[in-house]
Amino acid sequence: MHNDLKLFTELAEFLLSEEENNPVAIPIETGELYNRLDLELTNEPLIGEDFKNLLKEVIKSTPKTASKTFFNQLFGGRISKATLGDLLSVMLNNSMYTYKVAGPQVGVEKAILKAVGERIGYGVQSDGTIAPGGSMCNYMAMLMARDVFDGSIRNNGITRKLIAYTSDTSHYSVTKNASFVGIGRHQVRAVNTNNRGEMLAADLARQIEDDISNGYHPFFVNATAGTTVLGAFDNIKDLSEVSKKHQLWLHLDGAYCGAVIFSKSYKHLVNGIELTDSFSFNAHKMLGTPLSCSILVTQNKEHLYQSFSNEADYLYQTSDDDFNLGKTSLQCGRRNDALKLWTLWKAVGSKGLETIVDHQFHLAHVARDYISKHSDYTLYSFEDSISVCFNYKKISAKVLCTKLYEHSKLMVGYGNFKGETFVRLVTINTKVETNDILRFFKTIETFVDSENLQS
Ligand SMILES: *Cc1c(COP(=O)(O)O)cnc(C)c1O
Repeated sequence: MHNDLKLFTELAEFLLSEEENNPVAIPIETGELYNRLDLELTNEPLIGEDFKNLLKEVIKSTPKTASKTFFNQLFGGRISKATLGDLLSVMLNNSMYTYKVAGPQVGVEKAILKAVGERIGYGVQSDGTIAPGGSMCNYMAMLMARDVFDGSIRNNGITRKLIAYTSDTSHYSVTKNASFVGIGRHQVRAVNTNNRGEMLAADLARQIEDDISNGYHPFFVNATAGTTVLGAFDNIKDLSEVSKKHQLWLHLDGAYCGAVIFSKSYKHLVNGIELTDSFSFNAHKMLGTPLSCSILVTQNKEHLYQSFSNEADYLYQTSDDDFNLGKTSLQCGRRNDALKLWTLWKAVGSKGLETIVDHQFHLAHVARDYISKHSDYTLYSFEDSISVCFNYKKISAKVLCTKLYEHSKLMVGYGNFKGETFVRLVTINTKVETNDILRFFKTIETFVDSENLQS
């Protein structure tokens, strides 16, 4: 082990220097991948320097998500105290299902769930879990809603048409999950949004009433804090009023921007969060922990137990169910995804998390400011969003993003909304500074000039 730890340190140092010196890996076409890298598995072992050199080659060609030129996704960067925690959890290798096997690591997870529940104003009955991703949090929320609607479905299956509602700008997992939950994809209604991509409560109410009069059974509303393209925040209070009137479960999908709960300046974006039945957010997005770290909390822990507990004598051999996290999880064996957030949170305090969140809004402000002062750009996104959507000189966003990637300049993606396609700059990497944002625009401008990309 000691030798491999030394090797690990050497490889990690190599990665850090690559991120600095070659921040955008030279892309390999998929058809070329197996010719360029020796990935195939063979009978003979690969040892010593050969093994190390191959690992270096692989590292070199892997996209550098922690570099300051990676703006492609809703995560990026690296916060070392969080990485430290994740590395420790790999070494400790506990499984989170029981207290007997995970010990204080259960306490680590419960401390996070408690602090989040209190922060958003859920009552003393609140509890939660850490799921493998935001999509799975949404899945668990929909399952709880289904079982609250009709507890017999757990055993008997679905016999009626249950209907879920989410906005037309929400994450695709809501529709996908509907098939796993058994209600079927066609039973998910796309609710209209306003010109900022926020769900319209009036359209929600209208669709619910239509469904009821057609003999269907509404049960679940999914609201979003930070939509995937524009970073928009649905109005929770308005949606809660409609949901409560019809006794529907209201889930808030905060995978992208739910971490605003840590900021005095931005938590108003989720006003009314205490009215929701469940809430989830990805610490691996705004809080910058390694993937994945997705927290789901619910007002009433009974709902977690009702949907996810199963008796299993071979597993649950100590009595304190509150500390046997397997009873509130989708999984059996479960990776410790709590420790990385806990080490970060301990090391910087809630104040430090606030600084992380605020910095991202600041960078987005810097970017929007630059765009609005330069007439070659068109801005499509709004204040209070860390997705900065724009076009440059009317060049096709798809062409621009693809060429920037192929030429190893930047990694940035594109999105669309109401018929417009645009570049989406995501200011979620906390290590990025104002200068890096300005350099991002300069890189685009210089590149467009040199490649003659004018539309
Ligand atoms: C990223 C995202 C998800 C999915 O989270 P994963 O961890 O990738 O599964 C769900 N909803 C929204 C709004 C997201 O931005």
